Amino acid sequence: MEFKVSDLEQEPIDFDVALEPGRVELGEEAEQVGLLAAAGRAEVLHEHRGPKEIVSDIRLKGQFKGNFEVKCARCVEPVGLPLEAEYDLIFRPAEVDAVSGERSITASETEIGYYEGDSLLLEDVLREQVLLSLPVRTLCKPDCKGLCPHCGENRNQTECDCAEKATDPRWGALGDFRGRIKQ
Ligand SMILES: [Zn+2]
Ligand SMILES: [Zn+2]
Repeated sequence: MEFKVSDLEQEPIDFDVALEPGRVELGEEAEQVGLLAAAGRAEVLHEHRGPKEIVSDIRLKGQFKGNFEVKCARCVEPVGLPLEAEYDLIFRPAEVDAVSGERSITASETEIGYYEGDSLLLEDVLREQVLLSLPVRTLCKPDCKGLCPHCGENRNQTECDCAEKATDPRWGALGDFRGRIKQ
């Protein structure tokens, strides 16, 4: 869904959409399961920078809700993750700050996003919001045993005997070291 500044200048646009998986490109980080619901309002905010310079920012306020799958940080099995979050964001035309690059940027301004050309894509905003709301690390269960570093088996499902067979490499290195001092 595209919000054109020229349309928003006429009146704010309320949106309430349900997006099929794939509309919001999430890359490797997460997979969308089922519809992604998003609702809210887009409007123009005029930023007066001088007697003649008026910048048209787009404000997007709303929420999203959907189900996602991410990989377990230890065993890489998919883990279901329901996510929902609210957002209240300001997008400034990309060319405005590119021109006045020497302006000092305050802390609050770093939170500002940019839109290219004359419109903002809801899908782009949702992509960022979903990725931001992902936990840093997800485990399928708190005591996930992960993958065996030797044979790659999922140790939650299979008890491999690699641990018994393999000698601990740290002891191996120590053995070499001992051998060297003797010489
Ligand atoms: Zn796991
Ligand atoms: Zn193994």
